[in-house]
Amino acid sequence: MTEKTDRCDIKSLLRDELAERLSAMGEPGFREKQIFTWLWRGVKSFDEMTNLPKSLREKLDGAFTITAPEIERKQVSRLDGTVKYLWRLSDGNFVESVVMRYEHGNTVCVSCEVGCPMGCAFCASTIGGKVRNLAASEILDQVMYAQADSGLKISNIVMMGIGEPLDNFDNTIRFLKLVNDPDGLNIGMRHISLSTCGLAEKIDKLAGFDLQLTLSVSLHAPDDETRSKIMPVNRAYGVDAVLDACRRYFDRTGRRVSFEYAMIRDVNDTPRHAQLLAQKLAGTGCHVNLIPLNDVPESALSPSTPETVRRFMGTLTGRGINVTVRRKLGPDIEASCGQLRRERERK
Ligand code: SAH
Repeated sequence: MTEKTDRCDIKSLLRDELAERLSAMGEPGFREKQIFTWLWRGVKSFDEMTNLPKSLREKLDGAFTITAPEIERKQVSRLDGTVKYLWRLSDGNFVESVVMRYEHGNTVCVSCEVGCPMGCAFCASTIGGKVRNLAASEILDQVMYAQADSGLKISNIVMMGIGEPLDNFDNTIRFLKLVNDPDGLNIGMRHISLSTCGLAEKIDKLAGFDLQLTLSVSLHAPDDETRSKIMPVNRAYGVDAVLDACRRYFDRTGRRVSFEYAMIRDVNDTPRHAQLLAQKLAGTGCHVNLIPLNDVPESALSPSTPETVRRFMGTLTGRGINVTVRRKLGPDIEASCGQLRRERERK
């Protein structure tokens, strides 16, 4: 493993894995915490780890790499301070993150894949398909470097950027364990939301980890006919299979699932859709987040009218369902994910 070309991505290692590697290099036990702490302070080279002997720093440099994205583009909303980053990764690929300033704390929305394999009809991230998974370190870097560059202390994370977290399952779990570490960024699981298009089997697998994060499921339709039209994944896991997995998730973790519903004009926003959705979710205690569709130039779909959104919401609240309508942040910078990367790829 000392070949330059074969160096291991140190920030993706879990702490016991790092400890094992260091011990195999003949290092004493306390080095692991020293090195781990440096990594999460944002060093870009082993030379900056000034309390390590020079010989060790050289050895580490031969064995490991430290990832660090470059800012390819940054936009700051003049209206609400939302900051959007387009990152250039070490292999020249691009991903996006958005920092949103909420009253309950600054929240970063991170990407987990370069592109996305899921093919949702309304989503900019999936247009060129999936290029590759992000390493855990590359997901973490988005939190760390967004915080460092913006000067905004990040207290919450949403995995709602480019990609499908449960499709990149192992790296997502690694990311969650690392970002939660008290010697690292120390962000509590209750401050993290993970959004999925509804890979039912993976929802069950995630439930097995019994993490206290919030699971958000992109439902977008209450019936298979509508959902399959806009989300190809529905042909593998239909609405009822997804809702059953959500029930099992709640039973196992005690955490209520939240549903995202992008309101698309004349597609999923009729009174019939509202009633069926209300019927399926009544009594579950689940939360529904209605999202006025963001316009994606490549897609013919358009957002529901504000009046339709209001009526839809009324049907749900009438059945005792907890509903919010997502406020649009950074409207002047196209803050919805996937659009900056698309623009860059088109060039
Ligand atoms: N793959 C995951 C997370 C990424 S997308 C998922 O599917 O949940 C984050 C959220 O944005 C999802 O709910 C997704 O359906 C939604 N979304 C994607 N494109 C959108 C658009 N044009 N308008 C509104 N919401 C959109």
